[in-house]
Amino acid sequence: MNEKMIVACPVCGRQLLKSGSSTNAEVSCPKCHSELNCTVSGATVSVEVVKKSVKQKRSA
Ligand SMILES: [Zn+2]
Repeated sequence: MNEKMIVACPVCGRQLLKSGSSTNAEVSCPKCHSELNCTVSGATVSVEVVKKSVKQKRSA
């Protein structure tokens, strides 16, 4: 069975893409505008935050 992997933004949780078997994609989240590097290999999905959004509130 080939389940499609759902890749979600680790910063805000927005669903970014569904991929097939293997993907390596740089995407930017449409919601929080973080830059992400999505790697899908088999049943493993990893999402690396390349650049976190600067739109988030700061505690200052
Ligand atoms: Zn996001």
